[in-house]
Amino acid sequence: MATFLISDLHLEADRPDIAAQFFEFLEAEARDAEALYILGDLFEAWVGDDDPNPHYAACKQAIRALADSGVPVFFMHGNRDFLIGDGFAADTGASILPDPTLVDLFGTKVLLSHGDALCTDDVEYQKVRVMTRDPDWQAMTLAKPLDERIAIARQAREESMARGQTIDMEIMDVNQGAVEQALRDSAASVLLHGHTHRPNVHEIDLGDRFAKRIVLGDWYEQGSYVKWDENGPELVAIPRT
Ligand code: MN
Repeated sequence: MATFLISDLHLEADRPDIAAQFFEFLEAEARDAEALYILGDLFEAWVGDDDPNPHYAACKQAIRALADSGVPVFFMHGNRDFLIGDGFAADTGASILPDPTLVDLFGTKVLLSHGDALCTDDVEYQKVRVMTRDPDWQAMTLAKPLDERIAIARQAREESMARGQTIDMEIMDVNQGAVEQALRDSAASVLLHGHTHRPNVHEIDLGDRFAKRIVLGDWYEQGSYVKWDENGPELVAIPRT
């Protein structure tokens, strides 16, 4: 049995190909899993658990089927779906994890994170992150009518895309100091995250020991997961047929 970790699927109604591959993954690889960890940005946008969007309902149902089959499913917020709440957890059977969370995977201490909190060079974004993770801000936002929340999310997405084209790509990557600090503070051997869409395995020299940083890939053009079993982690890309 293996544990699977995924992130950054960015599921949305306009991309049924992503959902189709996700559903195949849930019914094949993940079906016999020890556990499934979804480390944020499962959805391109999330405006509240009360959104009746049928595409999201189908995604939730697919996760529910896996959870009902006995596979523990864990979810961590990303910067797109930070408004996922207890309603989503109840609908899917997934448990929501704080970011970061330290887990033991086959004897290895692994620190799980979405990854956006590590991008400390992006000072503007970190301010937005603090605001949008504030419980009072979230309650105020969720109290707005659904159509207004959908409009706000669309605008935020357009602004984020426009900004992504103007700023240096370097500052949108993780900060090496933040990575090393997180590994030291947690005493983890591995930091595993998504968000940057730069799938890779990095060696980290902490001075007194070596650690690893494993980055999950996004699902825009192909599937991506880490499979972790008694032989250790394997970063896998699954072609989209
Ligand atoms: Mn992200």
